[in-house]
Amino acid sequence: MRSFTYLRPSTPAQAIEAMADGGPGARFLAGGTTLYDLMKLGVEGPLRVIDITRLDALAGFDTSGPRELVFGALARMSDVAADRRLKEDYPALSEAMWKAASQQLRNMARVGGNLLQRTRCAYFRGGEPFACNKRDPGSGCAARDGMDRGNALLGASDACAAVYPGDWAVALVAFDAVVDTLSPRGERSIPLAELHREPGSTPEVETTLAPDELIVRIRVPRSEAGRASTYHKIRDRESYAFALTSAAVAVRLSAGVVAEARVALGGVATRPWRSPEAESVLLGQPLTEDVAQSAGQAAFAAASPGVHNAFKVELGARTITDALMIARQRAEQP
Ligand code: SF4
Repeated sequence: MRSFTYLRPSTPAQAIEAMADGGPGARFLAGGTTLYDLMKLGVEGPLRVIDITRLDALAGFDTSGPRELVFGALARMSDVAADRRLKEDYPALSEAMWKAASQQLRNMARVGGNLLQRTRCAYFRGGEPFACNKRDPGSGCAARDGMDRGNALLGASDACAAVYPGDWAVALVAFDAVVDTLSPRGERSIPLAELHREPGSTPEVETTLAPDELIVRIRVPRSEAGRASTYHKIRDRESYAFALTSAAVAVRLSAGVVAEARVALGGVATRPWRSPEAESVLLGQPLTEDVAQSAGQAAFAAASPGVHNAFKVELGARTITDALMIARQRAEQP
């Protein structure tokens, strides 16, 4: 492991200053569940590590507000997952937490850092023997002619087809969440749908954050569809595994038809993937299994499957269908 300077600021302003001074070799450290992994693998080699876990002002969260839910970036995933009000009012957000990682990791990981976890593409994490445009720009993509079981069906480019691996961001994008950030230029707000980039010709640039920008909170506008929501995750084993396919859905029914529909996909795209195609199939229709199946198929109409991941087209459509049936049950509960 390379040696690095370790700093532990006590205010957000100090953290921003330390990052600005550190240049491109500096990294923020929160729970460490991604950064330490990648440092051990040699994929990340920061020269300056800025530990932000003492920024207590960013550690709280409030799910009781009348207009929005607010999550400080340093709230622990396990605390958010266990929040009773979140489970009742926004089960999709709570389930996305419960179904991520393990309890030990959720105890360490923070909700802001969770948004920025990096791909599980084995060629990216495998290091130098493998060509990888994301890790080493311009070197090629070993996954293209290799095992593409984990590759994206949606949002890929010739340069990279790595799947965005997270769960929480998928549920957040379904609810039009917003991320607030702080940098030397002040505060700004970024819709979560615009936080993660598709790879295009620069897969090494994964988000629209500037290098010196710190996520300070996540806000979720209240939605009448919150209670009739779910995060449905299909994986190779039922615990401690990344999604093969996942769906965050929420519906509001009125006079027997869908008046509001929210559908987002995980495990199949290069970023948290909202599906307006699926939503438009649902709107104005009774939420029958046939309609749900049509919505699932619409979500994958533009999919580009490879050799080993083609099974995810059908699996993903069924994941959406099942999620919508769960949401319907919840919508019909008194
Ligand atoms: Fe690298 Fe992306 Fe290719 Fe994986 S899919 S090897 S992350 S360039």
